[in-house]
Amino acid sequence: MPYCPKCKRDYEEGKTTCTYCEVALVEEEIDEVVNDQLEEIKKLCSVYTLQEADIIIALMNSYEIPAIKKSEQIGDYLTVAMGSSMYGYDIYVPVRLFDQAELLLNAQNIEEEDERSSMT
Ligand SMILES: [Zn+2]
Repeated sequence: MPYCPKCKRDYEEGKTTCTYCEVALVEEEIDEVVNDQLEEIKKLCSVYTLQEADIIIALMNSYEIPAIKKSEQIGDYLTVAMGSSMYGYDIYVPVRLFDQAELLLNAQNIEEEDERSSMT
């Protein structure tokens, strides 16, 4: 069913413009196709610095896991203004690779802890 992208009213098949907003109607199927193409992602972890985020992404990429980082817009602004983000970065990975990514991340953390405990 076509619907108006502005007021979200549903229209009958064959209608092409919204009578209220006078904008072109869009087909609902278009949205579904877009959703199918976007891979579902899940938040893996949060880090405080861009360096940490890049290290984790590099680690994931070395195992062919396409990881991405996200930060709040205000965080990006603060990065410029203060040299670091107050909000940090969230690392996202595809849901289908989440378990693998989490194992990799945990393995990294365990290694770091081993180093620390062996020093004491
Ligand atoms: Zn409308």
